[in-house]
Parts: sequence; C-alpha cells; structure tokens
Amino acid sequence: MAQEQDILKMPPPRRPPRLTSRRIGIHTSIAGGVQNAAERAYRLGCNTFQIFSSSPRQWAPYELTRAQCAEMGRLREKYDLRPLVIHTNYLVNLASTTPLFLKKSVEAFRGEIERALALRAEQLVLHPGSFRGADRVQGLMQTAAAIAAASQGLDLVKNNLTILIENTAGAEYSLGGRFEQVAEILDRLRGVVPIAACIDTCHTHVAGYDMVSEAGMADTLARLDATVGLKNVRVWHCNDAKAACGSKLDRHQHIGRGSIGLEPFRRLLNDSRLAHAAFIAETPIDAPGDDKKNVATLKRLVARKTPQR
Ligand SMILES: [Zn+2]
Ligand SMILES: [Zn+2]
Repeated sequence: MAQEQDILKMPPPRRPPRLTSRRIGIHTSIAGGVQNAAERAYRLGCNTFQIFSSSPRQWAPYELTRAQCAEMGRLREKYDLRPLVIHTNYLVNLASTTPLFLKKSVEAFRGEIERALALRAEQLVLHPGSFRGADRVQGLMQTAAAIAAASQGLDLVKNNLTILIENTAGAEYSLGGRFEQVAEILDRLRGVVPIAACIDTCHTHVAGYDMVSEAGMADTLARLDATVGLKNVRVWHCNDAKAACGSKLDRHQHIGRGSIGLEPFRRLLNDSRLAHAAFIAETPIDAPGDDKKNVATLKRLVARKTPQR
C-alpha cells in the first residue's frame, strides 16, 4: 500500500455510483476514524464494505466514541451501505494451545464483538486459527468453545450480528482449509451464537478447489453446499490469486489478473443461489485507484438484466 492516495481528499463523485443487483464492496481504510470508511466506501462505488475496527496487528484496545458510531450509522443510512462487515484482528488465534495466548485472544475477540455491536455491524469475520501443538479436531473444538466464551453475555441476536467463519488457504496447522472444517465449527455453535460463513475465492483456489473451469466451479459449489450450505455463506471475499491452485500460498491479486481470472467471478456474481451474499474484495493497492478499479470490475461482471434495487 505504498502509493495509497486517500479518496477522502479528492472531490466527491458528481453522480451517485451505478447500482447493481448485488451487494459489492471492498475492504476500506479507517484512517482518521472508523466512520470515515463509510464515506470512502461510497466514493469507491460500494454498497457494502468491510473494515478493521482497530489496528489489525496490535493488541492495544481501541475505544470507539458514541459520536463515531452515530456518524457511521448516519453515513450508512445516507448511502445505503449494508452489510457492514468487520474483519477480526490478525493476531487473534482462538485455536492457540498456549493458555496465555488463548486468554489474550478470547479477550481481544470479545472486544471485536463489542465494537461490532457498538458500530451496528451485521457481520464479524474470523479466521478459525492455527492449532500448532495440538491436532486438528482439538483445534476445531477449542475454536468453537473460545467463540462461545468470548460472546457470553453479549446480545448478538438482538443486535442482528452474525459471526462468520472464513475458510483459509489451508497452510500447515491452519484450520479452515477444507469446507468440512468450516462446517464443523458452524455445527458446534448453532444455537449458541449467530454463526455463518465467509468464503474467500483466493483461499478456496490455493487450498486446492477448482474455481477456474466451469465444471470445477460447479463441483466446488456443490461441495460447499453439501458442507457449509450455500445459504450460510453471507460474505464472499472476492480476491484473485497470485499463486497456483493447491499451492496453499495466500497472496491476493487484482480481480481478473491472477490465476483465477475474470470468468469465475462472473459466475459467482450471477449465481442466483448466492444473491443474498455480499461480495467484498480484499485486493492489493499497488497503484493509486486500484481499489476503485477492482470494485468497478466486480460491478461490471453483474449482468444488467437483473432488476436493480
Ligand atoms: Zn478474506
Ligand atoms: Zn487471504
């Protein structure tokens, strides 16, 4: 993000962004305060967006003011930005086998939930964690237990907040490289806390699922439906990949410019079984304006014949 240029410092768009029949957005900077992300998302052409609610690589707690939360609500209403998706800090590892680290992670994740509630976010995305030192089944059980512990006493149902388990690239010790593992966590938490899934196209591809050929994508979606359930996928992280299918290397690329290519994204965006989901890019910013371009690319892929809303 070396050459990032802030869209907030540029003149606002003269016309409102073109609407699509899908919710399309991008991970957006919270520089200057979380509420600024809403204005940025609108100017980037989004009707949904994702943020970090604190610094993604620091443990330090982050206090949100009432004024910030109110401004976020006002801007989301004004621009019809929904859902608001929050991505959990990367340091949180709810599968950790180190008691002290686990305790820190549970506390930090509780903070994530509290901030998501304060901001009235609809979804909070979490990577299921890394189980180094234990086995995968233990890791999955612990992650589920830690999510339950972190959310105890907080009213997610009333506030319409759902925790989303994201699939991962499936590198050694990391949980969530197979759809079955995501489904396992969902199954354990059903009835305990509102829980669903976020599926990342780059992670799916490098984990070894075929997203590229039409038949491969059909098969991958069938497997996803049989495990997690397509209706439970509330967010699709739309990222092309720098690495090959099966490489387990998580490097995001601009939409259409990586080893996945444009067509699979067109198929995803126009699949009526996925119409309820939000499609959010987490693509790199190599040059100023890359974020806006990736949003525009995703929007262009949505067939125009579908009714606009
Ligand atoms: Zn992702
Ligand atoms: Zn990733």
